[in-house]
Amino acid sequence: RLRPLIAGNWKMNGTSAALEQIARLKTLLGEAGNIDSDVLVCPPATLLERASQRAQGSALRIGGQDCHANPSGAHTGDVSASMLLDAGASHVIVGHSERRADHGETSETVRAKAAAALAAGLVPIICVGETEAERLAGTANQVVGEQVKFSLPETFGETPIIVAYEPVWAIGTGRTPTIDDIAQMHAHMRQLLVARFGKAGEAALLLYGGSVKPSNAEEILRTPNVNGALVGGASLLADDFFSIIVAA
Ligand code: 13P
Repeated sequence: RLRPLIAGNWKMNGTSAALEQIARLKTLLGEAGNIDSDVLVCPPATLLERASQRAQGSALRIGGQDCHANPSGAHTGDVSASMLLDAGASHVIVGHSERRADHGETSETVRAKAAAALAAGLVPIICVGETEAERLAGTANQVVGEQVKFSLPETFGETPIIVAYEPVWAIGTGRTPTIDDIAQMHAHMRQLLVARFGKAGEAALLLYGGSVKPSNAEEILRTPNVNGALVGGASLLADDFFSIIVAA
Protein backbone atom coordinates (compact mmCIF):
# COMPACT_ATOMS: atom_id res chain seq x y z
CA ARG A 1 0.00 0.00 0.00
CA LEU A 2 1.29 3.43 -0.94
CA ARG A 3 1.12 5.98 1.84
CA PRO A 4 -1.88 8.16 0.92
CA LEU A 5 -1.76 11.92 0.51
CA ILE A 6 -4.78 13.91 1.62
CA ALA A 7 -4.46 17.41 0.18
CA GLY A 8 -6.71 20.41 0.71
CA ASN A 9 -7.04 23.11 -1.94
CA TRP A 10 -8.47 26.27 -0.45
CA LYS A 11 -8.62 27.97 -3.87
CA MET A 12 -9.30 31.75 -3.56
CA ASN A 13 -10.66 31.48 -0.03
CA GLY A 14 -9.28 32.66 3.26
CA THR A 15 -7.88 35.71 5.01
CA SER A 16 -6.02 35.88 8.33
CA ALA A 17 -8.98 34.40 10.24
CA ALA A 18 -8.65 31.15 8.26
CA LEU A 19 -5.29 30.53 9.95
CA GLU A 20 -7.34 29.30 12.91
CA GLN A 21 -8.27 26.31 10.74
CA ILE A 22 -4.58 25.49 10.38
CA ALA A 23 -4.18 25.69 14.15
CA ARG A 24 -7.26 23.50 14.67
CA LEU A 25 -6.04 20.93 12.16
CA LYS A 26 -2.68 20.84 13.91
CA THR A 27 -4.47 20.18 17.20
CA LEU A 28 -6.62 17.41 15.70
CA LEU A 29 -3.60 15.76 14.09
CA GLY A 30 -1.66 16.01 17.35
CA GLU A 31 -4.49 14.45 19.37
CA ALA A 32 -4.90 11.64 16.83
CA GLY A 33 -1.23 10.68 17.04
CA ASN A 34 -0.55 8.07 14.42
CA ILE A 35 -2.05 9.18 11.10
CA ASP A 36 -1.21 6.83 8.26
CA SER A 37 -1.33 9.52 5.55
CA ASP A 38 0.54 12.61 4.51
CA VAL A 39 -1.54 15.72 5.02
CA LEU A 40 -1.22 18.92 2.99
CA VAL A 41 -3.11 22.20 2.89
CA CYS A 42 -2.72 24.60 -0.06
CA PRO A 43 -3.93 28.03 1.09
CA PRO A 44 -3.88 31.16 -1.07
CA ALA A 45 -0.39 32.58 -1.63
CA THR A 46 -1.04 35.46 0.80
CA LEU A 47 -1.38 32.99 3.69
CA LEU A 48 1.41 30.58 2.77
CA GLU A 49 4.12 31.86 5.02
CA ARG A 50 1.90 32.33 8.07
CA ALA A 51 0.21 28.98 7.46
CA SER A 52 3.55 27.21 7.32
CA GLN A 53 4.63 28.94 10.53
CA ARG A 54 1.42 27.84 12.24
CA ALA A 55 1.88 24.26 10.97
CA GLN A 56 5.38 23.97 12.40
CA GLY A 57 5.86 21.18 14.89
CA SER A 58 3.17 19.05 13.23
CA ALA A 59 3.01 16.64 10.31
CA LEU A 60 0.86 19.09 8.37
CA ARG A 61 2.53 20.37 5.24
CA ILE A 62 1.74 23.48 3.25
CA GLY A 63 1.63 23.89 -0.52
CA GLY A 64 1.01 26.45 -3.26
CA GLN A 65 -1.86 26.37 -5.76
CA ASP A 66 0.12 27.36 -8.85
CA CYS A 67 3.57 28.56 -9.88
CA HIS A 68 5.11 30.29 -12.88
CA ALA A 69 7.29 28.28 -15.23
CA ASN A 70 10.18 30.73 -14.89
CA PRO A 71 12.30 31.10 -11.75
CA SER A 72 12.06 34.94 -11.69
CA GLY A 73 11.55 37.91 -13.95
CA ALA A 74 9.05 40.33 -15.45
CA HIS A 75 5.82 38.42 -14.76
CA THR A 76 3.63 40.81 -12.79
CA GLY A 77 1.35 39.07 -10.34
CA ASP A 78 2.95 35.66 -10.70
CA VAL A 79 4.77 33.61 -8.09
CA SER A 80 7.72 31.31 -8.80
CA ALA A 81 8.30 27.86 -7.39
CA SER A 82 11.36 28.99 -5.43
CA MET A 83 9.27 31.77 -3.84
CA LEU A 84 6.74 29.16 -2.69
CA LEU A 85 9.55 27.05 -1.28
CA ASP A 86 10.97 30.09 0.50
CA ALA A 87 7.52 30.77 2.02
CA GLY A 88 7.44 27.26 3.49
CA ALA A 89 5.74 25.18 0.79
CA SER A 90 6.68 21.56 0.13
CA HIS A 91 4.25 20.96 -2.76
CA VAL A 92 2.51 22.94 -5.47
CA ILE A 93 -0.66 22.18 -7.43
CA VAL A 94 -0.22 22.72 -11.17
CA GLY A 95 -2.71 22.47 -14.01
CA HIS A 96 -5.85 22.65 -11.93
CA SER A 97 -8.86 22.76 -14.29
CA GLU A 98 -9.73 26.23 -12.99
CA ARG A 99 -6.30 27.44 -14.16
CA ARG A 100 -6.65 25.60 -17.45
CA ALA A 101 -10.09 27.22 -17.97
CA ASP A 102 -9.55 30.70 -16.46
CA HIS A 103 -5.99 31.26 -17.62
CA GLY A 104 -5.82 29.26 -20.83
CA GLU A 105 -3.19 26.89 -19.49
CA THR A 106 -2.40 24.05 -21.86
CA SER A 107 -0.79 20.76 -20.93
CA GLU A 108 2.48 22.17 -22.31
CA THR A 109 2.21 25.12 -19.89
CA VAL A 110 1.46 22.73 -17.07
CA ARG A 111 4.45 20.55 -17.91
CA ALA A 112 6.73 23.62 -17.82
CA LYS A 113 5.31 24.59 -14.42
CA ALA A 114 5.77 21.06 -13.07
CA ALA A 115 9.37 21.07 -14.34
CA ALA A 116 9.93 24.43 -12.62
CA ALA A 117 8.54 23.01 -9.38
CA LEU A 118 10.89 20.01 -9.58
CA ALA A 119 13.86 22.27 -10.34
CA ALA A 120 13.06 24.37 -7.26
CA GLY A 121 12.72 21.33 -4.99
CA LEU A 122 8.92 21.32 -4.72
CA VAL A 123 6.69 18.31 -5.33
CA PRO A 124 4.20 19.10 -8.11
CA ILE A 125 0.64 17.80 -7.91
CA ILE A 126 -0.38 17.64 -11.56
CA CYS A 127 -4.12 17.88 -12.22
CA VAL A 128 -6.02 16.30 -15.08
CA GLY A 129 -9.70 15.62 -15.78
CA GLU A 130 -12.34 15.60 -18.48
CA THR A 131 -15.31 17.93 -18.90
CA GLU A 132 -18.85 16.63 -18.76
CA ALA A 133 -19.20 16.96 -22.56
CA GLU A 134 -16.07 14.86 -23.01
CA ARG A 135 -17.37 12.17 -20.66
CA LEU A 136 -20.75 12.09 -22.41
CA ALA A 137 -18.97 11.85 -25.77
CA GLY A 138 -17.08 8.81 -24.50
CA THR A 139 -13.67 10.49 -24.82
CA ALA A 140 -12.76 10.79 -21.11
CA ASN A 141 -10.02 8.16 -21.30
CA GLN A 142 -8.47 9.73 -24.34
CA VAL A 143 -8.63 13.29 -22.96
CA VAL A 144 -7.15 12.33 -19.59
CA GLY A 145 -4.55 10.12 -21.30
CA GLU A 146 -3.38 13.05 -23.40
CA GLN A 147 -3.32 15.39 -20.41
CA VAL A 148 -1.20 12.87 -18.52
CA LYS A 149 1.09 12.41 -21.50
CA PHE A 150 1.70 16.12 -22.16
CA SER A 151 1.45 17.61 -18.64
CA LEU A 152 4.14 15.46 -17.04
CA PRO A 153 7.86 16.25 -17.39
CA GLU A 154 10.23 13.62 -18.75
CA THR A 155 11.78 12.79 -15.43
CA PHE A 156 10.94 13.31 -11.78
CA GLY A 157 14.33 12.31 -10.44
CA GLU A 158 13.85 11.23 -6.82
CA THR A 159 10.61 13.20 -6.45
CA PRO A 160 7.40 11.16 -6.25
CA ILE A 161 4.98 11.47 -9.17
CA ILE A 162 1.62 12.82 -8.03
CA VAL A 163 -1.31 13.10 -10.42
CA ALA A 164 -4.76 14.28 -9.35
CA TYR A 165 -7.75 13.12 -11.39
CA GLU A 166 -10.45 15.74 -11.05
CA PRO A 167 -13.38 15.40 -13.46
CA VAL A 168 -14.33 19.02 -14.15
CA TRP A 169 -18.05 18.28 -13.76
CA ALA A 170 -17.50 16.85 -10.27
CA ILE A 171 -15.74 19.94 -8.90
CA GLY A 172 -17.88 21.92 -6.48
CA THR A 173 -21.07 20.27 -7.73
CA GLY A 174 -21.71 17.57 -5.15
CA ARG A 175 -21.65 15.06 -8.01
CA THR A 176 -19.03 12.33 -8.26
CA PRO A 177 -18.32 9.59 -10.78
CA THR A 178 -19.36 6.08 -9.80
CA ILE A 179 -16.76 4.10 -7.89
CA ASP A 180 -16.39 1.90 -10.99
CA ASP A 181 -15.67 4.95 -13.14
CA ILE A 182 -13.08 6.23 -10.65
CA ALA A 183 -11.46 2.77 -10.50
CA GLN A 184 -11.41 2.54 -14.30
CA MET A 185 -9.81 5.96 -14.81
CA HIS A 186 -7.22 5.43 -12.09
CA ALA A 187 -6.29 2.03 -13.55
CA HIS A 188 -5.94 3.70 -16.96
CA MET A 189 -3.63 6.39 -15.53
CA ARG A 190 -1.60 3.78 -13.63
CA GLN A 191 -1.08 1.79 -16.80
CA LEU A 192 0.12 4.88 -18.69
CA LEU A 193 2.48 5.89 -15.89
CA VAL A 194 3.97 2.41 -15.48
CA ALA A 195 4.49 2.14 -19.25
CA ARG A 196 6.32 5.45 -19.27
CA PHE A 197 8.09 5.62 -15.90
CA GLY A 198 8.37 1.98 -14.78
CA LYS A 199 8.85 1.66 -11.01
CA ALA A 200 8.24 5.36 -10.45
CA GLY A 201 4.88 4.89 -12.16
CA GLU A 202 4.06 2.02 -9.82
CA ALA A 203 4.89 4.28 -6.87
CA ALA A 204 3.00 7.29 -8.27
CA LEU A 205 0.26 8.70 -6.06
CA LEU A 206 -3.03 9.00 -7.94
CA LEU A 207 -5.33 11.36 -6.09
CA TYR A 208 -9.04 11.68 -6.76
CA GLY A 209 -10.63 15.14 -6.53
CA GLY A 210 -14.13 16.47 -7.06
CA SER A 211 -16.80 16.74 -4.34
CA VAL A 212 -14.90 14.60 -1.83
CA LYS A 213 -16.54 15.03 1.58
CA PRO A 214 -16.64 13.21 4.92
CA SER A 215 -19.61 11.06 3.81
CA ASN A 216 -18.03 9.67 0.62
CA ALA A 217 -14.32 9.76 1.46
CA GLU A 218 -13.99 6.25 2.84
CA GLU A 219 -15.54 4.56 -0.19
CA ILE A 220 -13.53 6.64 -2.65
CA LEU A 221 -10.25 6.17 -0.76
CA ARG A 222 -10.78 2.39 -0.66
CA THR A 223 -10.92 2.23 -4.47
CA PRO A 224 -7.98 0.45 -6.14
CA ASN A 225 -5.33 2.88 -7.45
CA VAL A 226 -6.77 5.77 -5.44
CA ASN A 227 -3.85 6.88 -3.28
CA GLY A 228 -5.38 9.96 -1.75
CA ALA A 229 -7.65 12.90 -2.36
CA LEU A 230 -7.52 16.51 -3.45
CA VAL A 231 -10.26 18.24 -1.50
CA GLY A 232 -11.72 21.67 -2.24
CA GLY A 233 -14.73 22.91 -0.29
CA ALA A 234 -14.52 20.29 2.45
CA SER A 235 -10.94 21.31 3.27
CA LEU A 236 -11.93 24.80 4.42
CA LEU A 237 -13.09 23.63 7.83
CA ALA A 238 -10.50 21.67 9.80
CA ASP A 239 -13.04 19.30 11.37
CA ASP A 240 -14.52 18.28 7.99
CA PHE A 241 -11.07 17.90 6.47
CA PHE A 242 -9.91 15.84 9.43
CA SER A 243 -12.87 13.44 8.93
CA ILE A 244 -11.59 12.84 5.41
CA ILE A 245 -8.03 12.34 6.67
CA VAL A 246 -9.09 9.64 9.13
CA ALA A 247 -11.13 7.91 6.39
CA ALA A 248 -7.92 7.23 4.41
P1 13P B 1 -14.41 20.38 -4.41
O1 13P B 1 -13.90 19.40 -3.41
O2 13P B 1 -14.92 21.66 -3.81
O3 13P B 1 -15.36 19.75 -5.38
O4 13P B 1 -13.14 20.86 -5.29
C1 13P B 1 -12.30 19.90 -5.80
C2 13P B 1 -11.08 20.55 -6.33
O5 13P B 1 -11.10 21.22 -7.35
C3 13P B 1 -9.83 20.40 -5.56
O6 13P B 1 -8.73 20.85 -6.27
